[in-house]
This record gives sequence, C-alpha cells and structure tokens, in this order.
Amino acid sequence: MYLKEFPLEFEQALPILQQISANGYEAYFVGGSVRDHLLGKPIADVDIASSAFPAEIKTIFPTTIDTGIKHGTVTVRWHQRNYEVTTFRTESGYQDFRRPDQVTFVRSLLQDLQRRDFTINALAVRQDGLVIDEFAGLTDLKNHLIRAVGNGDERFHEDALRMMRAVRFSSQLDFTIEPATFASLTKMAPLLEKIAVERIHSEFVKMMLSPHWQQGWSQFVSSSLIQYAPFFKKWSAAMPQFNPAESAPLLDETTIWLLLALRMQLTRDQCQQLLRQWKTANQVQHDTLAAWDFSQLLHAQTTLTPVELYQADLPMLQRLAVVGADLAWPIDFKQLIAAYQQLPIKNDHELAINGGDLIRQLAIKPGPQLGKLLTAAKIAVLNGEVPNQAAELIRWSRKRLPDMV
Ligand code: ATP
Ligand code: MG
Repeated sequence: MYLKEFPLEFEQALPILQQISANGYEAYFVGGSVRDHLLGKPIADVDIASSAFPAEIKTIFPTTIDTGIKHGTVTVRWHQRNYEVTTFRTESGYQDFRRPDQVTFVRSLLQDLQRRDFTINALAVRQDGLVIDEFAGLTDLKNHLIRAVGNGDERFHEDALRMMRAVRFSSQLDFTIEPATFASLTKMAPLLEKIAVERIHSEFVKMMLSPHWQQGWSQFVSSSLIQYAPFFKKWSAAMPQFNPAESAPLLDETTIWLLLALRMQLTRDQCQQLLRQWKTANQVQHDTLAAWDFSQLLHAQTTLTPVELYQADLPMLQRLAVVGADLAWPIDFKQLIAAYQQLPIKNDHELAINGGDLIRQLAIKPGPQLGKLLTAAKIAVLNGEVPNQAAELIRWSRKRLPDMV
C-alpha cells in the first residue's frame, strides 16, 4: 500500500530521507508517527530509521546532536526542527529483562522492524510513500488489535516494560490486546518486578491519562500486572473497578493518585506510601496529599466556611470534582467552585497589606504579634468583615492591635 498523501510533518521531514538516500543509504519513517498518521491522529515526533551508521549520518547533515550514539540515535536539526535518526539495529542479551546487553547495527530494515514491540509499531514508510508492513500491522490497525511482533512470551521476556506498553496503547487507542498476546502478558507479568519504577510509572501515567483509561486499568488488573507493580503488590484488598460509562477523563497525574487513594480508602499515610513507592514528583505528592486532606473536610460537614474554602485552590477543586463524581459524593462542585471564585482573596499575596505596611504604618516590630495581626486581617477579609483595601485594612488593624498580645 502507498500513502496517498503525506501529512505535513512527513512532508517537512522528507528532505532528510532524500538526503540520506542520495548518499547511498536507506531511510524510512517508522514507529508511532506512522501508526498515528494511519489512524488519522495527530503526529507527535517523526522518527526516522536508517541503514546509515551514526558516523555516516553525521557526515551527511551539517547540524547534528549526539543523542544516543551507543544505541544508534543521532538528532538531525533541520529547518528549526529536530528529528531522531536511528540506525537499523537488533538487540540481544536482555539478561536482566530490561535492557539489551548488546545493540548491533545492521543494514536491514526487516531486522530493525523485528525488534519492535507491536505490529502496529513496526510499520515503515519509504520516501515514495510505500508502507512496509512485514507483520500485518495494517490489518491489526484496521481490526484495532495490539499484537506482539513474533512470540509474545519471548518479547515480554526480553523486555518486560512492553507489557505495560501493551495496556497503555490499548487504553490510548481503544484497541483490544489480541488473545495470544494477552495470554503471554498474563504469563510473563511477574517479570514486571524487574523493571525500574520510573519506567513503569511513565507508561502507567500515560495509560491513566488517556481517554479509555478504564479499559487500561481493567487490563492492568485482569492480566495480573498490578500484582507486580509498586504499592499495589502489597495491597491485599480488592482493586477498584471503574465503569467506563460513568467516569470522566482524569485531568492530570495528581487526579490519578487522588482517585485511586480515595477509591481504595487509603489513610493519609498509605496515600503517601503510594506516592513514594511510585516515585512521583514532589509537587504531585504535595498536591495529592493536600487534596486528600481537603476531601476529609468535605466529608465532615455539609457547608464550608470561607476560611475553610480558602485552603483549596482551583485545580484542587477541579480534581476533587472528578473524583467526587466517580465516587458519587453528594456534593455540588459547581456551587463549591463558584463559592471559591467569589472569595475576596485566593492566597496570602492577594491581601492588600503585608507585614511591611503594618510595620511602617502602625510602628510595630516584626515578630509574632505582626503575624497574628496579618492572619486576623486575612480572616476578617475572607469573612467579609472588612474590604480588601489597604486603607481600610490599616484602620482595622490599628483598632485590633491592642488585642494582639
Ligand atoms: P508515543 O506516541 O507514545 O511516542 P511510540 O510508538 O512512538 O508512541 P516510543 O516510545 O516513542 O513509542 O517508541 C518509538 C518506537 O520504538 C515504537 O513505535 C516501537 O516501534 C519502538 N519501541 C519503543 N519502545 C520499545 C520497546 N520497549 N520494545 C520494542 N520496541 C520499542
Ligand atoms: Mg514516540
């Protein structure tokens, strides 16, 4: 099959294929960009595979960056854009179930396609538009199937991360994992323990942030991959199930952890362990725990005072709204968000006076008294007892000063 038309991204990168071939080597568009174009989805990065070795690529193009020479990847800078050009290669070894012990550069496209994970990721496009399809990836694309290239057991044994990639792609593309591939996945699932948490994390988050995350999650559970994943492997209670018909897209990584923590009814400590064991970023940990704390407040009472609401922020309320919908909390988040937006101040910086103003105008010294006065002023503003205006706040503070000892 020939592509009738190149997408803009291929059109822009075409001169690279032409230059490489003018120098006597082969070069193709490969991997995710080919798959996504054939699915009519936007293309992320255009990856190029070539028979030229890295040193040869570097002689062809004036501006290159040594991205991963050992693995055969050179970044070619072309008209203000970067393209990764990777030499055809085979991999062997995989002693530790994750990284090939040895990468061998080869001159054959077929061998390069053979080492790729799934048939839909093993398509290549030649400069004249011919789609090279050695493993019936086009049929699998049409039938919405994730199928391992070759023997699934072997492929997952070589690199256990591929199992996470299978559920991730299934979730992102709304594809089914082909039965034999799924059987291999179930069989080889224990090998996931050999994979660095950071790599599992990256695939897991991609899976959960995709439109069909419920499907990804359900396969993550049913394949038993979850039993070899951080934190979950030590969890003996039942795993949550999600109804695809009811759940909304998860907004960001923090929403994922918050949803899981609240669905699993984790304590604050357990939630912290979940976040740490998955090696999440500090900001994600902080935001998830802050939202967890706020969720307790939400459950404890039906209405929140302005001072309580002030502890939230907009992203937190939006995340809680997603989780609250999933858990059928009887809370009107639209109204809660509207109430939050009407707060006269949303954070300490928005208070119309600061410590310096009070020191200058009221002749008080820095110290605990000043802190107390500022907090009292903030609460008064939030409760609508005084407008958030500097002159008013100074007058108000002067009156309160005698109480602040
Ligand atoms: P995305 O849109 O998420 O980037 P992608 O398919 O481009 O999806 P990448 O991780 O960028 O995924 O990898 C590019 C290509 O390299 C894949 O399409 C696949 O052919 C191959 N590949 C990547 N990781 C593996 C792996 N672990 N085992 C085998 N082949 C892989
Ligand atoms: Mg990619």
